[in-house]
Amino acid sequence: MTATPEMVRPTGSEELQLNSTGMRVTIGFFVVVPLLAVLAAIPVAWGGWLSWVDVILAFTFYAIASLGITLGYHRHFTHGSFKTGRTMKIVLALMGSTALQGSVAQWVADHRKHHKFSDEVGDPHSPWRYGTSTRAVAKGLFYAHVGWLFDESQSPVVRYAPDIQNDRDLRAISRWFPAIVVGTLLLPAVLGGLITMSWTGALTAFFWATLVRIALVHHVTWSINSVCHVFGTRPFDSRDMSSNVWWLALPALGENWHSLHHAEPTAARHGVLKGQLDISALVIRSLERLHLVRDVRWPRPERVVAKLKDPAMASRVRGYRAAAAPVS
Ligand SMILES: [Zn+2]
Ligand SMILES: [Zn+2]
Repeated sequence: MTATPEMVRPTGSEELQLNSTGMRVTIGFFVVVPLLAVLAAIPVAWGGWLSWVDVILAFTFYAIASLGITLGYHRHFTHGSFKTGRTMKIVLALMGSTALQGSVAQWVADHRKHHKFSDEVGDPHSPWRYGTSTRAVAKGLFYAHVGWLFDESQSPVVRYAPDIQNDRDLRAISRWFPAIVVGTLLLPAVLGGLITMSWTGALTAFFWATLVRIALVHHVTWSINSVCHVFGTRPFDSRDMSSNVWWLALPALGENWHSLHHAEPTAARHGVLKGQLDISALVIRSLERLHLVRDVRWPRPERVVAKLKDPAMASRVRGYRAAAAPVS
């Protein structure tokens, strides 16, 4: 057994240093460069190895897997931000399984443990585990992004997710996980082949809507663990290093507003300041209107304002109306 390293987080001026050029280069290496490589390949491949069929399939399978993680695995199963009926519960668990991030029970256990020990010893994926020097944070970012997945010690499901483990439907879906993996890997190719009636169509759909899609879903989810605990702004009081990183808003479907999420984990909306796009919250709102989800824990503006580090930002909180100043 290896000793757990002491967690050291930055304070004051140290924190400013971490937002320096060296650190931006590091994060670029992990997240931005592979993404740019894929984007650069698009014009080269367009018309030959990439068609509208591939784009639509990739977009659709990305939305299914990502919403399965943000709405299902995260906001519903981990944090209970809303309630659902049995059918919707099964649909969300199946959708989340297509993201290839493991069974719902293990995901929930890891994530609840992350909230319990956030950026302290015991956090399964804190980027601060090796210290605060540039070198230590670079190593920590890699660990938080992907390295932690290879750690042998897993968060115990019996302790952190007994509610998930005791659910018969969710247990059945976990048992079927290998079949779901095969399905999410092959279905885009089958659809691409049938729509275009060609082997090339099947192959390009497999490349874009399976391989590229899964890589993107993985890196975006992992970025919340790595990037959103190191870079960005921290408007809310949350005891840890969780932060808001605006440029992840679109691909992360609103999970990038991570500072509020750690301050108020059960809230169904993470983007609570004006102008913060939270697509997952928009989808929850639509499902609520359709009566597919209920008892949604929408954040209360007064509570949100109370968690702000700077009270002067209150006017930026959605739905908040300050009490009129008393007339003297
Ligand atoms: Zn976090
Ligand atoms: Zn969470």
